[in-house]
Amino acid sequence: MEGKRPVCSICSSPAVFLDRESRAHLCSQHLKESVESRVLSRIIQEEPLPEIIGVAFSGGKDSTALLAVLASLKDRIPSRLIALTVDEGISGYREDTIRHAKDVCTRLDVEHRIISFTRLYGRSLDEILKSSNRKACTVCGILRRRALEVLAEEEGVHLIVTGHNQDDHAQTTLMNAFSADIKKVFAGSGSTSRFARRIKPFAAVSEREVTLYAIVSDLFMALPECPYAGEALRGEVRRLLNKFELDHPGSMRNLARAEEDIRKRLKSKVKNIPMETCKVCGWPGSGDVCQVCLLLNEKETISRTDLQT
Ligand code: SF4
Ligand code: ZN
Repeated sequence: MEGKRPVCSICSSPAVFLDRESRAHLCSQHLKESVESRVLSRIIQEEPLPEIIGVAFSGGKDSTALLAVLASLKDRIPSRLIALTVDEGISGYREDTIRHAKDVCTRLDVEHRIISFTRLYGRSLDEILKSSNRKACTVCGILRRRALEVLAEEEGVHLIVTGHNQDDHAQTTLMNAFSADIKKVFAGSGSTSRFARRIKPFAAVSEREVTLYAIVSDLFMALPECPYAGEALRGEVRRLLNKFELDHPGSMRNLARAEEDIRKRLKSKVKNIPMETCKVCGWPGSGDVCQVCLLLNEKETISRTDLQT
Protein backbone atom coordinates (compact mmCIF):
# COMPACT_ATOMS: atom_id res chain seq x y z
CA MET A 1 0.00 0.00 0.00
CA GLU A 2 1.30 3.47 -0.85
CA GLY A 3 2.79 5.48 2.01
CA LYS A 4 3.04 2.41 4.22
CA ARG A 5 6.31 2.22 6.15
CA PRO A 6 8.41 -0.76 5.10
CA VAL A 7 8.69 -3.53 7.66
CA CYS A 8 11.40 -6.09 8.38
CA SER A 9 11.16 -9.10 6.07
CA ILE A 10 11.95 -11.36 9.06
CA CYS A 11 9.92 -10.00 11.99
CA SER A 12 7.66 -7.23 10.65
CA SER A 13 9.15 -4.54 12.94
CA PRO A 14 9.78 -1.17 11.26
CA ALA A 15 12.61 -1.55 8.75
CA VAL A 16 15.76 0.60 8.78
CA PHE A 17 17.56 -1.01 5.85
CA LEU A 18 16.75 -2.20 2.35
CA ASP A 19 19.10 -4.63 0.62
CA ARG A 20 18.66 -3.31 -2.90
CA GLU A 21 19.86 -6.53 -4.48
CA SER A 22 17.60 -9.02 -2.66
CA ARG A 23 14.88 -6.38 -1.92
CA ALA A 24 14.84 -7.62 1.70
CA HIS A 25 14.06 -5.10 4.45
CA LEU A 26 15.63 -5.41 7.87
CA CYS A 27 14.77 -3.85 11.24
CA SER A 28 17.58 -2.55 13.45
CA GLN A 29 17.84 -5.83 15.40
CA HIS A 30 18.01 -8.03 12.32
CA LEU A 31 20.42 -5.63 10.58
CA LYS A 32 22.70 -5.94 13.62
CA GLU A 33 22.42 -9.73 13.65
CA SER A 34 23.14 -9.91 9.92
CA VAL A 35 26.29 -7.75 10.26
CA GLU A 36 27.44 -9.61 13.38
CA SER A 37 27.06 -13.03 11.75
CA ARG A 38 29.19 -12.00 8.73
CA VAL A 39 31.88 -10.59 11.03
CA LEU A 40 31.80 -13.69 13.21
CA SER A 41 32.15 -16.04 10.25
CA ARG A 42 35.17 -14.06 9.02
CA ILE A 43 36.80 -14.04 12.47
CA ILE A 44 36.37 -17.77 13.08
CA GLN A 45 38.26 -18.48 9.86
CA GLU A 46 41.28 -17.43 11.95
CA GLU A 47 40.82 -20.20 14.52
CA PRO A 48 42.61 -21.00 16.75
CA LEU A 49 42.11 -17.40 17.75
CA PRO A 50 44.92 -15.54 19.48
CA GLU A 51 44.69 -14.51 23.11
CA ILE A 52 44.34 -10.85 22.08
CA ILE A 53 42.71 -9.25 19.05
CA GLY A 54 43.81 -5.68 18.31
CA VAL A 55 41.24 -3.43 16.67
CA ALA A 56 42.72 -0.65 14.54
CA PHE A 57 40.55 2.08 15.99
CA SER A 58 40.67 5.57 14.51
CA GLY A 59 37.42 6.62 16.18
CA GLY A 60 35.73 7.05 12.78
CA LYS A 61 32.43 5.35 11.99
CA ASP A 62 33.88 2.18 10.42
CA SER A 63 36.24 1.28 13.25
CA THR A 64 33.64 2.37 15.84
CA ALA A 65 31.10 0.00 14.30
CA LEU A 66 33.68 -2.80 14.14
CA LEU A 67 34.58 -2.37 17.79
CA ALA A 68 30.88 -2.41 18.70
CA VAL A 69 30.29 -5.59 16.68
CA LEU A 70 33.24 -7.36 18.31
CA ALA A 71 32.22 -6.17 21.78
CA SER A 72 28.74 -7.58 21.16
CA LEU A 73 30.29 -10.93 20.15
CA LYS A 74 32.41 -11.24 23.28
CA ASP A 75 30.62 -14.40 24.41
CA ARG A 76 31.39 -16.07 21.08
CA ILE A 77 34.93 -14.76 20.51
CA PRO A 78 37.13 -15.80 23.43
CA SER A 79 40.00 -13.37 22.64
CA ARG A 80 40.57 -10.23 24.70
CA LEU A 81 39.92 -7.05 22.70
CA ILE A 82 42.26 -4.07 22.70
CA ALA A 83 41.47 -0.93 20.70
CA LEU A 84 44.64 0.50 19.13
CA THR A 85 44.59 4.18 18.18
CA VAL A 86 47.26 6.13 16.35
CA ASP A 87 47.30 9.86 17.06
CA GLU A 88 49.01 11.34 14.00
CA GLY A 89 48.92 14.86 15.41
CA ILE A 90 46.57 16.65 13.01
CA SER A 91 45.47 19.86 14.55
CA GLY A 92 41.77 20.76 14.44
CA TYR A 93 40.79 17.18 13.60
CA ARG A 94 42.38 14.52 15.75
CA GLU A 95 41.42 16.07 19.09
CA ASP A 96 37.70 15.39 18.44
CA THR A 97 38.18 11.91 17.04
CA ILE A 98 40.48 10.87 19.91
CA ARG A 99 37.94 12.17 22.43
CA HIS A 100 35.20 10.19 20.67
CA ALA A 101 37.45 7.10 20.55
CA LYS A 102 38.04 7.27 24.32
CA ASP A 103 34.33 7.71 24.96
CA VAL A 104 33.39 4.73 22.75
CA CYS A 105 35.92 2.47 24.53
CA THR A 106 34.56 3.49 27.92
CA ARG A 107 31.00 2.80 26.79
CA LEU A 108 31.88 -0.57 25.28
CA ASP A 109 34.19 -1.45 28.17
CA VAL A 110 37.12 -2.18 25.85
CA GLU A 111 40.77 -1.54 26.76
CA HIS A 112 42.25 1.34 24.78
CA ARG A 113 45.85 2.14 23.88
CA ILE A 114 47.02 5.23 22.00
CA ILE A 115 50.35 5.84 20.31
CA SER A 116 51.25 9.26 18.95
CA PHE A 117 53.56 10.26 16.12
CA THR A 118 55.13 12.70 18.58
CA ARG A 119 56.13 9.89 20.94
CA LEU A 120 57.30 7.61 18.15
CA TYR A 121 58.85 9.99 15.63
CA GLY A 122 59.46 13.05 17.79
CA ARG A 123 57.15 15.17 15.60
CA SER A 124 53.45 15.37 14.76
CA LEU A 125 52.23 14.77 11.19
CA ASP A 126 51.59 18.51 10.89
CA GLU A 127 55.26 19.16 11.72
CA ILE A 128 56.61 16.37 9.52
CA LEU A 129 54.64 17.67 6.53
CA LYS A 130 56.23 21.12 6.84
CA SER A 131 59.51 19.62 5.63
CA SER A 132 58.15 17.06 3.16
CA ASN A 133 57.19 17.46 -0.48
CA ARG A 134 55.25 14.21 -0.51
CA LYS A 135 51.48 13.97 -0.38
CA ALA A 136 50.07 14.14 3.16
CA CYS A 137 48.15 10.86 2.86
CA THR A 138 51.22 9.01 1.56
CA VAL A 139 53.34 10.20 4.50
CA CYS A 140 50.51 9.56 6.95
CA GLY A 141 49.82 6.08 5.57
CA ILE A 142 53.43 4.90 5.81
CA LEU A 143 53.99 6.32 9.30
CA ARG A 144 50.62 5.24 10.65
CA ARG A 145 51.10 1.67 9.50
CA ARG A 146 54.41 1.47 11.38
CA ALA A 147 52.91 3.16 14.45
CA LEU A 148 50.18 0.54 14.57
CA GLU A 149 52.74 -2.25 14.22
CA VAL A 150 54.80 -0.79 17.08
CA LEU A 151 51.74 -0.46 19.31
CA ALA A 152 50.63 -4.01 18.43
CA GLU A 153 54.07 -5.35 19.28
CA GLU A 154 54.12 -3.48 22.58
CA GLU A 155 50.74 -4.96 23.49
CA GLY A 156 51.53 -8.51 22.34
CA VAL A 157 48.95 -8.34 19.54
CA HIS A 158 49.46 -10.75 16.63
CA LEU A 159 46.12 -10.24 14.90
CA ILE A 160 44.84 -6.80 13.91
CA VAL A 161 41.34 -6.28 12.54
CA THR A 162 40.63 -3.17 10.47
CA GLY A 163 37.34 -1.47 9.62
CA HIS A 164 37.68 -1.49 5.81
CA ASN A 165 34.27 -2.23 4.37
CA GLN A 166 33.01 -3.71 1.11
CA ASP A 167 32.82 -0.29 -0.59
CA ASP A 168 36.47 0.47 0.34
CA HIS A 169 37.39 -2.93 -1.02
CA ALA A 170 35.55 -2.36 -4.32
CA GLN A 171 37.10 1.13 -4.70
CA THR A 172 40.60 -0.20 -4.10
CA THR A 173 40.01 -2.99 -6.62
CA LEU A 174 39.00 -0.52 -9.30
CA MET A 175 41.86 1.86 -8.45
CA ASN A 176 44.36 -1.00 -8.73
CA ALA A 177 42.82 -1.98 -12.04
CA PHE A 178 43.05 1.63 -13.31
CA SER A 179 46.74 1.71 -12.42
CA ALA A 180 47.22 -1.88 -13.72
CA ASP A 181 49.30 -2.52 -10.63
CA ILE A 182 49.06 -6.23 -9.80
CA LYS A 183 51.75 -5.85 -7.11
CA LYS A 184 49.33 -3.78 -5.04
CA VAL A 185 46.90 -6.68 -4.88
CA PHE A 186 49.52 -8.52 -2.87
CA ALA A 187 50.92 -5.52 -1.02
CA GLY A 188 51.92 -6.43 2.50
CA SER A 189 52.08 -10.14 1.80
CA GLY A 190 55.86 -10.25 2.20
CA SER A 191 56.98 -12.99 4.54
CA THR A 192 57.93 -11.81 8.01
CA SER A 193 56.81 -12.90 11.42
CA ARG A 194 57.28 -9.46 12.98
CA PHE A 195 54.15 -7.88 11.48
CA ALA A 196 50.84 -8.69 13.10
CA ARG A 197 48.46 -10.44 10.72
CA ARG A 198 45.71 -8.13 9.43
CA ILE A 199 42.17 -9.04 8.46
CA LYS A 200 39.13 -7.02 7.34
CA PRO A 201 36.01 -8.49 8.95
CA PHE A 202 33.78 -5.90 7.20
CA ALA A 203 34.94 -6.97 3.72
CA ALA A 204 31.49 -8.43 3.06
CA VAL A 205 29.56 -5.60 4.78
CA SER A 206 28.55 -2.51 2.81
CA GLU A 207 29.30 1.03 3.94
CA ARG A 208 25.55 1.66 4.35
CA GLU A 209 25.24 -1.30 6.70
CA VAL A 210 28.33 -0.24 8.68
CA THR A 211 27.01 3.31 9.07
CA LEU A 212 23.57 2.07 10.08
CA TYR A 213 25.13 -0.33 12.59
CA ALA A 214 26.91 2.61 14.26
CA ILE A 215 23.70 4.68 14.20
CA VAL A 216 21.38 2.02 15.64
CA SER A 217 24.02 1.22 18.29
CA ASP A 218 23.88 4.90 19.27
CA LEU A 219 27.61 5.26 18.62
CA PHE A 220 27.54 7.36 15.47
CA MET A 221 28.97 10.82 15.71
CA ALA A 222 29.48 13.29 12.87
CA LEU A 223 33.18 14.12 13.14
CA PRO A 224 35.27 16.71 11.31
CA GLU A 225 37.00 15.62 8.14
CA CYS A 226 40.78 15.42 8.07
CA PRO A 227 42.07 18.70 6.61
CA TYR A 228 44.46 16.72 4.39
CA ALA A 229 41.71 14.47 3.01
CA GLY A 230 41.24 14.68 -0.70
CA GLU A 231 42.57 11.60 -2.41
CA ALA A 232 41.12 12.77 -5.72
CA LEU A 233 41.10 9.41 -7.48
CA ARG A 234 39.38 7.56 -4.63
CA GLY A 235 36.72 10.28 -4.40
CA GLU A 236 35.99 9.95 -8.11
CA VAL A 237 35.96 6.16 -7.96
CA ARG A 238 33.62 6.29 -4.94
CA ARG A 239 31.14 8.54 -6.78
CA LEU A 240 31.33 6.37 -9.89
CA LEU A 241 30.75 3.13 -7.98
CA ASN A 242 27.94 4.60 -5.86
CA LYS A 243 26.14 5.68 -9.02
CA PHE A 244 26.72 2.29 -10.60
CA GLU A 245 25.46 0.52 -7.48
CA LEU A 246 22.25 2.57 -7.54
CA ASP A 247 21.60 1.67 -11.17
CA HIS A 248 22.80 -1.93 -10.88
CA PRO A 249 22.36 -3.15 -7.28
CA GLY A 250 24.92 -5.74 -6.24
CA SER A 251 27.74 -4.39 -8.45
CA MET A 252 29.83 -3.27 -5.48
CA ARG A 253 29.45 -6.65 -3.78
CA ASN A 254 30.32 -8.51 -6.99
CA LEU A 255 33.40 -6.37 -7.62
CA ALA A 256 34.69 -6.96 -4.09
CA ARG A 257 33.97 -10.71 -4.41
CA ALA A 258 35.70 -10.92 -7.79
CA GLU A 259 38.84 -9.35 -6.35
CA GLU A 260 38.80 -11.78 -3.42
CA ASP A 261 38.41 -14.68 -5.81
CA ILE A 262 41.26 -13.53 -8.08
CA ARG A 263 43.47 -12.97 -5.04
CA LYS A 264 42.79 -16.50 -3.74
CA ARG A 265 43.46 -18.08 -7.14
CA LEU A 266 46.66 -16.14 -7.69
CA LYS A 267 47.98 -16.50 -4.16
CA SER A 268 49.33 -20.01 -4.68
CA LYS A 269 51.05 -18.85 -7.87
CA VAL A 270 52.68 -15.73 -6.44
CA LYS A 271 55.88 -16.27 -4.51
CA ASN A 272 56.04 -14.56 -1.14
CA ILE A 273 58.72 -11.90 -1.47
CA PRO A 274 61.13 -12.23 1.47
CA MET A 275 61.50 -8.90 3.26
CA GLU A 276 64.77 -7.26 4.14
CA THR A 277 65.70 -5.83 7.52
CA CYS A 278 66.08 -2.06 7.59
CA LYS A 279 69.65 -1.23 8.52
CA VAL A 280 68.49 1.94 10.30
CA CYS A 281 65.57 0.85 12.50
CA GLY A 282 65.67 -2.95 12.29
CA TRP A 283 62.06 -3.30 11.07
CA PRO A 284 61.28 -5.39 7.99
CA GLY A 285 61.10 -3.46 4.73
CA SER A 286 61.32 -3.84 0.98
CA GLY A 287 64.85 -2.40 0.73
CA ASP A 288 67.89 -2.08 2.95
CA VAL A 289 66.36 1.14 4.31
CA CYS A 290 62.61 0.96 5.01
CA GLN A 291 60.01 3.46 3.79
CA VAL A 292 59.67 4.97 7.27
CA CYS A 293 63.38 5.70 7.56
CA LEU A 294 63.52 7.02 4.02
CA LEU A 295 60.77 9.41 4.99
CA LEU A 296 62.32 10.66 8.17
CA ASN A 297 65.73 12.06 8.81
CA GLU A 298 67.92 9.13 9.92
CA LYS A 299 68.85 10.83 13.18
CA GLU A 300 65.19 11.18 14.06
CA THR A 301 64.32 7.64 13.09
CA ILE A 302 62.82 5.49 15.79
CA SER A 303 64.65 2.69 17.46
CA ARG A 304 63.41 0.16 19.95
CA THR A 305 65.51 1.88 22.65
CA ASP A 306 63.69 5.17 22.00
CA LEU A 307 60.39 3.39 22.29
CA GLN A 308 61.17 2.11 25.76
CA THR A 309 61.84 5.55 27.21
FE1 SF4 B 1 46.08 10.61 7.16
FE2 SF4 B 1 45.20 11.36 4.74
FE3 SF4 B 1 43.61 9.97 6.36
FE4 SF4 B 1 44.23 12.51 6.92
S1 SF4 B 1 43.04 11.78 5.16
S2 SF4 B 1 44.21 10.79 8.39
S3 SF4 B 1 46.33 12.62 6.21
S4 SF4 B 1 45.54 9.25 5.44
ZN1 ZN C 1 63.77 1.62 8.96
